[in-house]
Amino acid sequence: MAISQKVDIAIVGGGAAGLMAAGQAAKLLGDKGAVALLEGAPRVGKKLLATGNGRCNLTNLDAQDRWYHGDSALAKAVFSQFSPADVLREFESMGLYCQEEEQGRVYPKNGQASAVLDALRLFFQKYHGQEICDSPVTEVKKQKNGYLLSLAQGQSLWARKLILAQGGKASPQISSDQGVSLARQLGHSETQLFPGLVQVTVPAALVRSLKGVRCPGKVRFLADGHTVKEEEGEIQFTERGLSGVCVFQLSRFASEYASAHTVLGNPCQKAEIAVDLFPELSFPDVCDLIRNLSQLYPELPMRELLFGVLPKRVGQQVMVAALAEKAGDSAKNLTGPLMKTVAKTAKSWIFPVTGTLSWTNAQVTAGGIPVSEVWVPSMESRLSSGMYLAGEQLNVDGDCGGFNLHWAWISGMAAGRSAAMAIKEESHD
Ligand SMILES: Cc1cc2nc3c(=O)[nH]c(=O)nc-3n(C[C@H](O)[C@H](O)[C@H](O)COP(=O)(O)OP(=O)(O)OC[C@H]3O[C@@H](n4cnc5c(N)ncnc54)[C@H](O)[C@@H]3O)c2cc1C
Repeated sequence: MAISQKVDIAIVGGGAAGLMAAGQAAKLLGDKGAVALLEGAPRVGKKLLATGNGRCNLTNLDAQDRWYHGDSALAKAVFSQFSPADVLREFESMGLYCQEEEQGRVYPKNGQASAVLDALRLFFQKYHGQEICDSPVTEVKKQKNGYLLSLAQGQSLWARKLILAQGGKASPQISSDQGVSLARQLGHSETQLFPGLVQVTVPAALVRSLKGVRCPGKVRFLADGHTVKEEEGEIQFTERGLSGVCVFQLSRFASEYASAHTVLGNPCQKAEIAVDLFPELSFPDVCDLIRNLSQLYPELPMRELLFGVLPKRVGQQVMVAALAEKAGDSAKNLTGPLMKTVAKTAKSWIFPVTGTLSWTNAQVTAGGIPVSEVWVPSMESRLSSGMYLAGEQLNVDGDCGGFNLHWAWISGMAAGRSAAMAIKEESHD
């Protein structure tokens, strides 16, 4: 495709935020404007296709700043400007219909992430937007009335307004991990980056025998013994640690601890995950349960006693964690103090946190460009006028449940509309 040498708006990054920004800008400018979307990969939206296990959990009906971390409080005005209903309306205007599933999670009605990408692309094309793929932008220079972009193949493109939506470092095998490289050239900084929504690692000896087992429960992240956050759901035991959505929700603290020995910016000597295998039962109820089982099967080794209430290997392992070699004794020897030890372990089974799996396994980047470096809600840079920022490259990351794409859409909508409005205003001058 021939590249227009001059455009009104250039968007760098054809991910969720960039595609949304591009469509919004092209629609607002209509026939009078030229909008180009530059993507380094051969195709736009590759990561989108992988979201929600190919189904794309594109927003959450409860999306608001309290489900986010980093500088989310500073971004409050963006969340207020665009509600989940606004996002869904926007997608409907592109021809994409959605449905709500459990916990407010929203998916395309046809269950296909590709439909979200199709909608964004068709909408952009309808307003004559130009997609330029296989064109990583390597350099950006601010000029008097715009920006000069250098592309990898030696070409260049000049734009009156620039939107950067380069994404983060998560899953580099799906999308480039150049992060804030261009924003940095224009004077922006970035906070420390951690992998988010990723498996948490613990000493392998504690979990290896449980590899592949799933069980419902509650997980608590403890920083020096104090609960930072707790979540309930399906816990997945892996060869190296703990996984599952509920564990993902705690993982940004594990990443921060592993990289900086802090949690939420506070020094932390010891990080742990406490697993409650019986969240629906009180401690006395668990004691009663164990007593009943030991009376039912007094000759059974204690290790086997929980066979009917927990996945077999989890039941065995929690008994060993609580009783060590005594777990092999018969249940008739389960005295009151031992029973309490077992109940205590089953309600709060401690796994020391060693870190997380790498960026390759992470779904999101925690950290990024401080939101204090952009005007909110326009998303225009405070350091380089006429340049706008959107998406994961900013220091806003959400919990699992459609929150990260929601942020990509709303920050993209804000940036795309602001850039187009600025062009329109200049044209009236
Ligand atoms: C496996 C997986 C599943 C996920 N599932 C969900 C989910 O169901 N719901 C949810 O809310 N979130 C989910 N997420 C998170 C969500 O996908 C991201 O937060 C979101 O896609 C971020 O959008 P973005 O546009 O900011 O960045 P990206 O989607 O990463 O897009 C950035 C784009 O910029 C391009 N780029 C970078 N630098 C340059 C350059 N110099 N020149 C040209 N192009 C460049 C990249 O190639 C990339 O295409 C998931 C993430 C992963 C990895």
